[in-house]
Amino acid sequence: MGCNDIFKVHLVMTGNGIDRQAACPYCKKDATLLFITQDCNRCISNDPFAYYRCISCGLISLQPVPSDLGSYYPKDYYLVPGSRSELAASAENERFKLDLITPFIQKGKLLEVGPAFGNFAYIAKQAGFDVEVVEMDSRCCEFLQNIAGITTVQSSDAAQAVQDRGPYDVIALWHVIEHLPDFQHTLDILAGKIRKGGFIVIAAPNPESWQFRILGRYWAHVDAPRHVVLIPFGLLEAHMAKLGFTTVSVTMTDPGARGWNMFGWQYSLSNFAESRFIKNMLFFLGAVLTRIMAPFEGNDQAGSAYTLIFRKDR
Ligand SMILES: [Zn+2]
Repeated sequence: MGCNDIFKVHLVMTGNGIDRQAACPYCKKDATLLFITQDCNRCISNDPFAYYRCISCGLISLQPVPSDLGSYYPKDYYLVPGSRSELAASAENERFKLDLITPFIQKGKLLEVGPAFGNFAYIAKQAGFDVEVVEMDSRCCEFLQNIAGITTVQSSDAAQAVQDRGPYDVIALWHVIEHLPDFQHTLDILAGKIRKGGFIVIAAPNPESWQFRILGRYWAHVDAPRHVVLIPFGLLEAHMAKLGFTTVSVTMTDPGARGWNMFGWQYSLSNFAESRFIKNMLFFLGAVLTRIMAPFEGNDQAGSAYTLIFRKDR
């Protein structure tokens, strides 16, 4: 079965051994089968992946999470820059992230979890933050430590990695939380590492977006099996409130979200094609659709990604 046979997968697998019910990994209540999909973005295997939606909290979760999840992150997952000046140039693309944070805090100790090769970490350091990062990719870690000059801990378990570190004034997770099988535990530990008055920034795909409603299991931001959870932003707000945090900013229309809107249309469509020519045509169509959908995706809560900023008040 090819990577583009996901139309067939659902029909075949729903009758064959995939449970229609599961337990929500967050609130433990019932979750029902939402869809079955494949690794449409990278085609690393043809395995089916089942996603469930919790009837109580709305969390969408991949179950079971493959035991070989690491093998779905190939060695060339990141295009690591060749030099510090290349990093400085590419980092400018992520200056908008700093611009989202600086209205609330302008200096202090900042931890980024999952920085890849360090675009945001570099910009934050240049702006005067004292930056540390936790990253799992060894090539990125080598670059971050030796070329970018950023204090780097190599780990795929941020909660464990920060055990003897901190406290921090800012912790940032840019499109990382959806990759964490135990996001609740990681958030709880990270929240405890933030000083009172400090901030946590969480950006992630928005399961309440227009794109997800239209594209469902074909949505590029499902990114099976690397995205193990799709978290409604209200769930994150409620969880952070329990930890003593106040929501100070919610955006789904910032430059990052708009970029993810375009990515979503372009890749979701081009994933349907096998030939390079058709892929390119669909990619172009995705850019056109991005423009057509912009007024809708620019509405509150409709964009394909959200950025939430929470302040620790107690
Ligand atoms: Zn739940």
